Amino acid sequence: MTVDGHAPATSASTLPLGGIGVSPGRAAGRVALMAPRPRLPEDRPESGDVEAETQAATEALAWTADDLEVRARAAPMPRAAEVLEATAMMARDPSLEEAIRSEIANGAPAAWAIERAMEVFRAMLLELGGYMAERAADLDDVSDRAIARLLGRPMPGIPERDAPFVLVADDLAPADTVTLSPERVLALVTVRGGPTSHTAILARSLGLPAVVACAAAASLREGELVEVDGGTGEIRTGITPGDAAETNRSEQLRRAAHAASHGPGRTSDGHPVALLLNIGDAAGAAAVAAVDAEGVGLFRTEFLYLDRSDAPSVDEQAALYADVFEAVAGRKIVVRTLDAGADKPLPFLNQEREPNPALGLRGLRIARRAPEVLTDQLAALALARQKTGADVWAMAPMVATPAEAKWFTDLAREHGLPVAGVMVEIPAAALRARELLEHADFLSIGTNDLAQYTLAADRMAGDLADLLDPWQPALLELVRITAEAGRAAGKSVGVCGEAAASPALAPVLVGLGVTSLSMSAAAVAEVRDSLAAVTLAECREMARDALAGRRSN
Ligand code: PEP
Ligand code: MG
Repeated sequence: MTVDGHAPATSASTLPLGGIGVSPGRAAGRVALMAPRPRLPEDRPESGDVEAETQAATEALAWTADDLEVRARAAPMPRAAEVLEATAMMARDPSLEEAIRSEIANGAPAAWAIERAMEVFRAMLLELGGYMAERAADLDDVSDRAIARLLGRPMPGIPERDAPFVLVADDLAPADTVTLSPERVLALVTVRGGPTSHTAILARSLGLPAVVACAAAASLREGELVEVDGGTGEIRTGITPGDAAETNRSEQLRRAAHAASHGPGRTSDGHPVALLLNIGDAAGAAAVAAVDAEGVGLFRTEFLYLDRSDAPSVDEQAALYADVFEAVAGRKIVVRTLDAGADKPLPFLNQEREPNPALGLRGLRIARRAPEVLTDQLAALALARQKTGADVWAMAPMVATPAEAKWFTDLAREHGLPVAGVMVEIPAAALRARELLEHADFLSIGTNDLAQYTLAADRMAGDLADLLDPWQPALLELVRITAEAGRAAGKSVGVCGEAAASPALAPVLVGLGVTSLSMSAAAVAEVRDSLAAVTLAECREMARDALAGRRSN
């Protein structure tokens, strides 16, 4: 059942509804239901005048494109503006308009013609797979808005209310998630979605408490008072306005206490743990100083090129990297070479359909087919390093064997990048961490992929969230093996997957021997405070418990 203002009322209850907490923090407020996708009436009316229908359809699409562009200009983040502009471009696509015209000429009324033409385009995108398939959600967004306009229905998307609210939705389209603002939305609850979905990652980067995969949220009513705990995944209903005010007051106090936190990460007895940021562009790099992180632990370079249909030149790349290096202002930056493929395909690299892209040509493996893409990127990174004098650490994604680690690190050094390391995202790499460290200067554990490959659970599958849980002892055992190899070699071993952003798990990772944690800017203060509350010996005890399957949160 979807969330649609007509859901049956629940009786007042203080029993929590359970989902998956994906962005910590508590908030209480009134529910605002996201308007459902407009459905066409069962009975299709006879088509009217072809000219008039065509004009109505064209006007609805143009209105949708204009509206998306207005929202792009008002978007709180550059990435949000890009997504909205790209979606607006879809609404203005002349071939789409052509397809709609032809549906109308064949007798379909405007709204039906739009739906039919969109279905054809959608099937084409899904057929192409990868990144193109992910754009299908943007196309649905255009279709829904144009149809709502034609039928005079409420516009789907983030609702407008007089006061901030708890947003409850079936799931969010990418175009919706990028316009979420913490000023209007107190917390986010979705019926669907998984822990590494775009909804979860965005909520975390905004510091918005969020719960996903909460089937029971479908029964929440417009205006009902609820309390959301984005850490435990619980939603409490039947609360009073007094309860809500108390929750928000204590959350404010908690946040204020964390906001005061600064300085290097360390346990209460002074064991240092570098706190670093995961970024995708220069705007992200600027946050390093704002949250007093020690640098960047993961610069996902592929995020700069998600919309590119041709490979960027060396000079163009060098200019972009120099901007990012300058924004980090003298602190260390770990740059990951392109991790294209599977959940992050690049149009200019991943044109071929693979039966199993997560196990195919992705990450460093792309260099088997297109080595010049990697050598161009290394050359550009070296140029930007030279120009800015930044402390650049080069890192390869999806390394499976010591031979691959040697090949990459030799190549990086030959290109003028003296510090070179690799990610540990594949169980084989964790099991051979010692041998990887004969070549690599450092290792960084990508727990998102390491969980996916260790538990054989697609990281995009919300239904398998329990298997992708970073507390899985088998995953933590591989972290332990990798960190132990780092300790023996006297080299740093960090974690840069989402696990590093969990205040509850951070002490466990430190107890396993991890030397740095890299996360979104919004997570730094809580992780710093969580480490400052425990000794190294306590971290080790928590690690032993976690390896034995006992959680300490
Ligand atoms: C990971 O796999 O944990 C990681 C940090 O890389 P990404 O999420 O970009 O695949
Ligand atoms: Mg990864």
